[in-house]
Amino acid sequence: MIMPGATLGVLGGDQLGRMFAVAAQRLGYRVIVLDPDPEAPAAAVANEHIYADYHDQAALERLGRSCAAITVEYDSIPVAALETLARMTRVRPTPDTVAIGHDRILEKRFLAQNNAPVARHAEIGTAGGVELAFQTVGSPALLKRARFGYEGSGQAPVASAEAALAAFNAFAAFGAVPAVLEQKVAFETEISVVLVRGADGGMAVYAPVENQHRHGVLYRSIVPARIPAVVAQRATELAERLAKQLNYLGVLTLEFFVQRNGELLVNRLAPRPHTSGHFTLDACATSQFEQQVRALCGMPLGSTELLQPAVMVNLLGEHWQQAAPDWPGLLNIPGAHLHLYGKRATRPQRKMGHVTCLGPTLDIAFRHARTVEELLDTRRVPEGQQAAS
Ligand code: AMP
Repeated sequence: MIMPGATLGVLGGDQLGRMFAVAAQRLGYRVIVLDPDPEAPAAAVANEHIYADYHDQAALERLGRSCAAITVEYDSIPVAALETLARMTRVRPTPDTVAIGHDRILEKRFLAQNNAPVARHAEIGTAGGVELAFQTVGSPALLKRARFGYEGSGQAPVASAEAALAAFNAFAAFGAVPAVLEQKVAFETEISVVLVRGADGGMAVYAPVENQHRHGVLYRSIVPARIPAVVAQRATELAERLAKQLNYLGVLTLEFFVQRNGELLVNRLAPRPHTSGHFTLDACATSQFEQQVRALCGMPLGSTELLQPAVMVNLLGEHWQQAAPDWPGLLNIPGAHLHLYGKRATRPQRKMGHVTCLGPTLDIAFRHARTVEELLDTRRVPEGQQAAS
């Protein structure tokens, strides 16, 4: 076990790294973040910021030699950097499991090999493979870059083989990587399951979360998810089984589509805490970030008990379009817990913070969340007027 007082590292310094750092410091650990952005949100709170590129061997050496254990923050961190660090110190989750979560082809293969239900799909290595992939998957479909795409970026809806080829070539302009063509699923609901698995194989699982997206970006998470108990149970069991089959260590998030007949399809596997798990900061006995620290250090895992129903609303760059949000107004809403990530530059869809609304019932939490959303919408330019503004 790694005891409080030791130094932990995090590769990547965006908001997930920031919340990890705060959780680690609360338990008495020191935190070093490595991130190439001088204004990385985690750098503002970490004990030390190694301001360097993820490929900088000297910087990785410094991080690896200074930390008792290291974790990773988001999906574009090169796995090679984690492998370098793993030769010096403990890295959780392990680089091989991170690699699966960072590559949609490896992810789909892992899911298929382990009998997890997934949408019909086909791998595309080169432009020559697009036509056959489209014949296999059919229309409507989504083309997704295998790597370096997330939440709607690096994705394109396609309705013909020609459109799929054009989208594949457009992705290649940003660096050629393979892609996956995937059937566009007419799902009823999207849910996620966040869990943590410790070194002894013990697991703690949070209640499934219902997620609503706008333009491919999460804007609202609702917990408990409004799905039948049997579906929640199946999602939980499937997430646990996959974590075990991966021999996963740390916090893992599984994203699912729930179809009208209640059947589940696994969409993604994120090897880290997740935006849809932010409610755990205010609504649960132990947050997903504290679990990340506990698992990294080999400490006992905490309780995942949901203390109150919650609705989390994401604060995105577009909520700053006309002016910054009405902070006093937001802080005046009962049951609303505001979290800001300290980012200065705003741009549409950039995650700037979130507000978690709690209530004794989900209806009341929802009522507070709607008040939050109404207040936020006063600072947005309405969609039809955006081009003219
Ligand atoms: P992803 O980057 O795979 O997490 O996708 C972001 C969002 O796009 C998902 O949460 C869904 O709302 C939507 N999406 C992704 N894949 C599909 C699919 N195969 N069918 C329908 N919607 C999808």
